[in-house]
Amino acid sequence: MADSMLTVDAARDQLIRSARPPTGRETVAATDALGRVLAEPLLADLAVPPFANAAMDGYALRLADWSADGWLAVRQRIVAGQVGRPLGAGEAARIFTGAPIPAGADCVAMQEDCDTRQTDMGEGASGPEVRVRRAPRPGEHVRPAGEDIAPGQTALAAGARLGPAQLGLTAALGRTELMVYPRLRVALLYTGDEIVLPGQPLGPGQIYNSNRAMLAALTAGLGCAVTDLGQVPDRLDATVALLDAASRQADVVITSGGVSVGEEDHVRAALQRLGQVELWKVAMKPGKPLLYGRIDGTDLIGLPGNPVSAFVVFALFVRPFLLARMGASPEPLPGYTLPAGFDWTRPGKRREFLRARVEAGRVVLHSKQGSGALSSLAWAQGLADLPADTVIHAGDPINYMPLAELMQ
Ligand code: AMP
Ligand code: MG
Repeated sequence: MADSMLTVDAARDQLIRSARPPTGRETVAATDALGRVLAEPLLADLAVPPFANAAMDGYALRLADWSADGWLAVRQRIVAGQVGRPLGAGEAARIFTGAPIPAGADCVAMQEDCDTRQTDMGEGASGPEVRVRRAPRPGEHVRPAGEDIAPGQTALAAGARLGPAQLGLTAALGRTELMVYPRLRVALLYTGDEIVLPGQPLGPGQIYNSNRAMLAALTAGLGCAVTDLGQVPDRLDATVALLDAASRQADVVITSGGVSVGEEDHVRAALQRLGQVELWKVAMKPGKPLLYGRIDGTDLIGLPGNPVSAFVVFALFVRPFLLARMGASPEPLPGYTLPAGFDWTRPGKRREFLRARVEAGRVVLHSKQGSGALSSLAWAQGLADLPADTVIHAGDPINYMPLAELMQ
């Protein structure tokens, strides 16, 4: 019944709220922390950069010494990694990007704005001089100490996911260890007597298991510790036995298929027998059946068997649930308003998420939108998010969700 279905937003909120944050924590080497979630704020105990330095190759000078055609003596050359002497009156220092600004200098003139010459300094000696053609601004091309991060500042908040940028920042602060939450243990299992693993011959009526490869990649990509429990036959006793075993070794169990209301769908009944069920039918297409429940302290999420449905449900619901369960700070669903590059004249009763791309600034759809058509997903760069009961004409504004952001 349509009115008993939750909206996408309500189901998502409810699922995220059901995700208990992790309890433990552990210290890991920063070099092993990719994909982990920070369990405490990362506080800076030094300034970044630690000293004022040149942002350009050029000449460091004191602004008060500058005049339009005044020549300044160049008595030192400061390269990155060296510390110069204080600047004397009427002097400039040759300086290179990243080198410390010498005491007394208050700006750097870029070398493209400078003329140089050698001057006779008497007794046969000559020395370089520089003239800056354009008046420098105070602090120009100087990166002050602490410009990026001041000591004591929170560089990363608890709940930050450690990606390449966060690990670079950690290194900039000189840190070698990080306090993170334990990896979330996720067990995967697949229902369907018709499903065969790639590598085995395909008998009559059989298809290959797509969801295994897809869900393993999706969960491992989030930084979960993934266990593959393999396939379960479409029988209630077998489903109960495997779910029971799965719930004893994982924080979250994710199943594929067998969550509809057909006679061959046993996941819900098995969950009912072992724990508490909350079956959410979500008013969306693809992916209406989405099962959530608990067996003791373990969460169970049942995904639809159709691979495109499983992927879309994972992206919109399971991923934010797992992130919350991992202790990561929540992020809103990404979405951009863009003109439709298609007509949608027969809208459905449910909100639809179609495999799409942006071409010439407009959202275009793949020609095959079936919930089993993985080729559309492999082609897609985003999802076109179309409201229920709404006719759309080419040029109308629609919501587009880039997969790169949805899945990052
Ligand atoms: P179910 O949700 O079990 O009713 O399955 C819905 C559809 O998805 C059926 O056509 C199944 O054959 C198909 N399906 C189920 N599991 C998988 C899987 N792991 N890989 C590919 N297709 C699947
Ligand atoms: Mg099935």
